[in-house]
Amino acid sequence: MSEHEPPLPESAEPARVAAQVSSADWEGRARELFGIPSLRPWQRAAVEALLCGPGRVLAVAPTGGGKSLCYQFPATELGGTTVVISPLIALMEDQVRALTARGIAATFLASTLDFAELRAREHALGSGGVRLLYVAPERLASERLVSIIERIRPPLLAVDEAHCISQWGHDFRPEYLRIGETLERLRPPRVIACTATATPAVRAEILERLRLGSGTAVLVHGFARPNLHLAAVEVDGSGRRRTLVASELKTALGTPDRPKGAAIVYAATRRAAEELNRFVSEHGWQSAAYHAGIDPETRADVGARFAARELDVVVATNAFGMGIDRPDIRAVIHAHAPGSIEAYYQEVGRAGRDGEPAKGLLLSSLADIGVRRRLIERGTDGEPADPAQVERQWRLFRELLSYVEAGSCRHDFILRYFGDEQEMLGGCGHCDICLRLGGAADEPGARAVCPGDVEVVRKALSGVARNRGRAGLHAVAEMLIGHGSERLSRMGLDLTSTFGILEGRSKDWTLSLLRRLISAGLVDVTASEYPVPYLTTRGHAVMTGAEPVRVLVPEAARPRPRSRSERSSSPVSASPSSSAPKTAQPVDTDLFDRLRAVRLAIARERGISAFIVATDRTLREMAATRPTTMSALAQLHGMGPSRLAAHGERFLAVLLAEK
Ligand code: ADP
Ligand code: ZN
Repeated sequence: MSEHEPPLPESAEPARVAAQVSSADWEGRARELFGIPSLRPWQRAAVEALLCGPGRVLAVAPTGGGKSLCYQFPATELGGTTVVISPLIALMEDQVRALTARGIAATFLASTLDFAELRAREHALGSGGVRLLYVAPERLASERLVSIIERIRPPLLAVDEAHCISQWGHDFRPEYLRIGETLERLRPPRVIACTATATPAVRAEILERLRLGSGTAVLVHGFARPNLHLAAVEVDGSGRRRTLVASELKTALGTPDRPKGAAIVYAATRRAAEELNRFVSEHGWQSAAYHAGIDPETRADVGARFAARELDVVVATNAFGMGIDRPDIRAVIHAHAPGSIEAYYQEVGRAGRDGEPAKGLLLSSLADIGVRRRLIERGTDGEPADPAQVERQWRLFRELLSYVEAGSCRHDFILRYFGDEQEMLGGCGHCDICLRLGGAADEPGARAVCPGDVEVVRKALSGVARNRGRAGLHAVAEMLIGHGSERLSRMGLDLTSTFGILEGRSKDWTLSLLRRLISAGLVDVTASEYPVPYLTTRGHAVMTGAEPVRVLVPEAARPRPRSRSERSSSPVSASPSSSAPKTAQPVDTDLFDRLRAVRLAIARERGISAFIVATDRTLREMAATRPTTMSALAQLHGMGPSRLAAHGERFLAVLLAEK
């Protein structure tokens, strides 16, 4: 698929009715046909864009937000047969049933139908009486079907779950790639793509692969859940995890004899779900475990008892979710980090459906990172996972880790992630970060942004501005802390006024500050092979003081007691061996030796060469920068995701023991 092909022609024929009717008429007919009180403003915008606008729409709204109406209603207005591409047969059946019940002629073609039924349905299409035809994407491989669709000349083509076309999304389906070609051939005058999850990158990919063109109306709405009180806490062991689960249940539900509503606790594995369920039950809650390893009857029973309010808590893996519509869920607690922000938001979004305040608490620990990596690599159905898929899922998980690490409003973080910027609040006022920024007195660790921190944020932003698109994050961090190197002087960064402006901070700390500025939307990075940071418009406003600083700076690492070797011998510079570039920071040779010993042990255990475990350069950087989190470790030269997942914890154990 070349990028240079022209987009499909915009509305080749005018909509049959658009000229005569105003949106007030649509409103009335939509209400009548679908039994809704009124069209939501963005639904109206979508309908309008299809019926008399550019004829191209990308609608992004959460599940249940009302996306299907955006093509079902225009289909009834346009006449002819609108074609809907939808990946789930069960969903197609549901929609066809619901439409038929409303007196709208609809049908679907899928491999579950027998031959005679398929032929009969295809035949019925010829009469033109069917308003909506649902097809599964894999059916587009059938030349017969595509030529039938070509003949019926659909006035509108809808692509549901459009994120499945994105190789960078969380749910890529190869058969979706065929849709682009099909559109090219059919050239329908109107196209709408719908999805519940599409980050800006995924949206761009959908637009490109469906060749929707730049005039497409992109409508992103409904992600804000201001009644959710979000918080994320990094824990260092299962004891702390349990304590927090217990105290959160108590805060959210009160006492087990008179609970106010319900809670869901999500765990990463079946075993963890079972264990936590025992723990929660011991605290007196009516609780049950739910995961795919439990027989279907028991699972259905748990679902029914939860719905009937006989259970207060379900401790589950992500298998629990479909069809939960208890409005009084007061807390969704993740005992372990979930796989992506999409997954997290879908799960936490089950809390507070009644609009009353509800808590979303996400606990994570270093061990979760290894667990997630194993889950990702295990693949599905016993098949080994496709490496490209592993890479994608790992990337999505790293985004989730950046949510955990964020130093700015969690609510706004999520809206920015989904691109629903219109609903951003500039601080929700009640997530854990906003509470700390606002210094709410009853919040443990409460602190307003102190003037020193404000200064630090502004200094870091001005460093990014002075970089003027020259260097990557590592070099900018080195420039900020004033670590001169050949690399910096080559780019002239040692001569900027911001060189050394954050002197005294570690590179690791500075990188984590820069990551917070990125997740707060103040700094962005270019999409080039070597990402270069730059200031966003908001970042510029914050730097100049036009907007307040609403970012927590990372905690400073505790001062480290000097190790024996440091007291006896002065730190030495990196040994100028072979091709390794000089590190400006002093390397603790004692630590370096201990890291090498761990490397050797791992190499022996696994029967692999030491350099496969980690290169000397990686270990030298490790000894110099002393990272203490997995994400900081991930920043080291040569520490890719598979090395990180396989050996990261072993190295961290050594580094943490240093603290
Ligand atoms: P999505 O496709 O985004 O998952 P649906 O289109 O299936 O969501 O809509 C979910 C529910 O919301 C349906 O029961 C639908 O009737 C209802 N709904 C859709 N639009 C509106 C509206 N404007 N007002 C009230 N309810 C609506
Ligand atoms: Zn907030």
